[in-house]
Amino acid sequence: MKSSPPFAELSWSDDGQPFSTHFGDVYFSRESGLEETRHVFLHHNDLPQRWSALSGNARFCIGETGFGTGLNFLCAWQLWDELAPAGAHLHFVSSEKHPLATGDMQRALALWPELQPWAEQLLAQYGDLAPGWQQFSLAGGRVTLTLLIGDLLDTLPQLDASVDAWFLDGFAPSKNPDMWQAALYQQMARLSRSDATVATFTSVGEVRRGLQAAGFTMSKVKGFGRKREMLAGRMNALPDREWTAPWYQRPAAPPSNERTALVVGSGLAGCSTAFALARRGWQVTVIERHPTPAAEASGNAQGILYCKLSPHQTLLSRFVQTSYAYCLRLLHETLVQSESTWTACGVLQLSADQKERQRQQALAEQAYPHSFLHSVDAEQASAIAGLTVQRPGLFFPSAGWVNPPSLCQALLQHPNIRLQTNREALQLEQRDDQWHALDGQGRSIAHAAIAVICSAADSLRFSQSSHLPLKSIRGQITHLPATTQSHQLQTVLCAEGYISPARHGEHHLGASFRFDRLDSQPSAEENVENLKLLNKLSPALADALQPNTHDPATLTARASLRCTSPDYLPLIGPLNDAQAFAEDYAVLGKDASKKPQVPTAWYPGLYINAAHGSRGLVSCPLSGELIAAWIDNEPLPLPRDVAEAVHPSRFLLRQLIRGQ
Ligand code: SAM
Repeated sequence: MKSSPPFAELSWSDDGQPFSTHFGDVYFSRESGLEETRHVFLHHNDLPQRWSALSGNARFCIGETGFGTGLNFLCAWQLWDELAPAGAHLHFVSSEKHPLATGDMQRALALWPELQPWAEQLLAQYGDLAPGWQQFSLAGGRVTLTLLIGDLLDTLPQLDASVDAWFLDGFAPSKNPDMWQAALYQQMARLSRSDATVATFTSVGEVRRGLQAAGFTMSKVKGFGRKREMLAGRMNALPDREWTAPWYQRPAAPPSNERTALVVGSGLAGCSTAFALARRGWQVTVIERHPTPAAEASGNAQGILYCKLSPHQTLLSRFVQTSYAYCLRLLHETLVQSESTWTACGVLQLSADQKERQRQQALAEQAYPHSFLHSVDAEQASAIAGLTVQRPGLFFPSAGWVNPPSLCQALLQHPNIRLQTNREALQLEQRDDQWHALDGQGRSIAHAAIAVICSAADSLRFSQSSHLPLKSIRGQITHLPATTQSHQLQTVLCAEGYISPARHGEHHLGASFRFDRLDSQPSAEENVENLKLLNKLSPALADALQPNTHDPATLTARASLRCTSPDYLPLIGPLNDAQAFAEDYAVLGKDASKKPQVPTAWYPGLYINAAHGSRGLVSCPLSGELIAAWIDNEPLPLPRDVAEAVHPSRFLLRQLIRGQ
């Protein structure tokens, strides 16, 4: 049986207030939700005073249990705009087991005309949310919202954050006893900074004792409206930290506190990284060896928003799902749809065989909103495609195709980014607390306090990243002039290959995978391979294009090198000294269960973002956010296990353990 998405089930009172039929409780006070939020959560976390005293580029993190209608979030954001300095950054992390469906969210937020300027920005990005982690960049990057969709007892243990203030919300303990558990308070304590505060609307003794046992000093204070009392408190004694692998811990801040960054490479990874940092107030220099950005693997005319998922919720699948949702938000925010830039025309993932169909059906039975993905039979697929396809599949209505260079150009427009073209970095060297990119003569061509290597497999040229197991895979895209009939194609078709609706009179058909050639000269042979893929996608479309495909040698094509890693996950995060790693953790070679304490020898302020393979379009935007979160000590936008699965240290660790 198909499980429905776990959206909140609501009823609405006569005066238009939402009520949870599932929990049997109100979302906020009937008297005034707005004033209640200000009293309970803002005032009793001392936010007006704390935010008035913030310095220039301060970071502040709020953790919330139960996002609900987002009222608390919007009130906090409104106050932040009023009081925090222009360069400061607010990161709001909230967990939600039953997100509101889009229509309910709109209806609930319409209750607060005063909050409309903020609500509109949130609603512009808020759609029916799939399970997993959801990252939102708001107010030009001044505010970040990370929503952890799922039960907080599952999601909070995977959170990596340092919280300054807690909004302990959630329905009344009597209505939602499963949430108000010691395990929750322990997670709050684990995630708290030493001076963290907490406020909650309830004054129940068990909650107070639970928070005290976890290390908070709690007191009863005057509640809102008719509620006599509520609880407010402060972290008193941080819990002892459990051992965590030093090679996955956050490196200390680099020696210079100057907010300048050097990004090597202006493909999707480089541009996304530069943009995420620039939005946080970093002055970013991007260096590029070609005369224009996105000139290599990110230079194809049409990239596909291809969200390949596994019903088994593997690390890769969870990474792709969160990345895909963020990529769509970033596209809507930064790039107007057009025939040149991108089109959300949907993507049909057609099943190539029975096994693939089973995978798709298993996915369709999971709790995905219809607007995220749904199963279609061959007839429905044909209606969506605009011409006959012979296979059933999964339809992703919000996906589509993107011209990656347009996205790169749009990201590079940020005023804090300076692009320097025709500059090739051959070495990286740190001196005087600055990372220098050096040319062939050893001259510094650019420098900054931190550096991020975004150079695909060419990252191997830098001594600091030369140990990484990066590989190149050649891929060729065939350009097919459209015909009158092929113009009927309305959506992207994917199976073993893919083809998109025409862009400026041309379809783009991909893609070959070749390890044996590392040049970028197009080949007729790969055009032939691609044409075979076309036949499998849709014989009707192959027929429609037939007048233009009879001589593969004459077809225009573009070949480039994608960069990949042995486990097909990218490398996103801080870099450490490989030699020191082998020495410091040699004990793991004998006994992998050992828990070494030696701190990891990080290269201060050096990061890598590479190996996105053929899915860089989907994964790069979030990878920029992940790099920025590492650098700015913000909550990571991915669960800890996924962040570790893409961490550059993983290969050194595996090498040591396997003795390779
Ligand atoms: N803070 C919200 C606002 O500003 O609108 C109101 C929160 S409402 C009172 C409580 C929320 O907690 C509901 O949206 C509910 O779905 C969520 N919730 C309840 N139990 C949860 C759990 N175990 N994990 C995550 N969220 C939960």
